[in-house]
Amino acid sequence: MVKYRVLFTADLQNLTDLKPSSDPTFTYYFKMKCGNCGELAKKVISVLPSEKVDDSRNAPNLVMKCKFCERVGSVTVTCDIREPLTEARSEFRNSVPLIQLDCKGLDPVEFVFGNGWKAKSIAGTKFEDIDLSDGEFDEYDEKGECPVSISNLCATFEVMMSEMREKRLAWDRSMLEHQQKWSALLKARKKETGSSFP
Ligand SMILES: [Zn+2]
Repeated sequence: MVKYRVLFTADLQNLTDLKPSSDPTFTYYFKMKCGNCGELAKKVISVLPSEKVDDSRNAPNLVMKCKFCERVGSVTVTCDIREPLTEARSEFRNSVPLIQLDCKGLDPVEFVFGNGWKAKSIAGTKFEDIDLSDGEFDEYDEKGECPVSISNLCATFEVMMSEMREKRLAWDRSMLEHQQKWSALLKARKKETGSSFP
């Protein structure tokens, strides 16, 4: 199982707070490949955070069988973050987190932008149900009397460390610190007495 965090950024013109709408039917789209044989699934896969494959508590949001090796993989949404991309962050091309996934036997290769996004103009006009499937958005804001646009969309996948690996690394670090302290102590002692510390 690999944990991924999906982040995105875009260039915003006279717009701020770009994020998925709060509609529970908002759907995330991905291109995925099989974690076993590497076969790329031909269909774009849709993940709906509010929909699970069954009623059990740990049920994944999606189960898919590889057309090539027939291995079954699953995707579970662990956190639907939807942090808004502000104008300031977009200026620096900073990415904001969208969603967190646990992927078992499937690897995401591309995030596909769809519809149902929202943003507001600097003048305060709300734009609802923005369709980003063409990769951009162009409108005119009557209130602010200026053009508004979204372009250069970019999504990235960040592999998150498992808790176990994090604990191990922390332990390794503390061992190293311990060793460094000891060797410093030994050196100091050697200087003082001219003899080596047992
Ligand atoms: Zn496969």
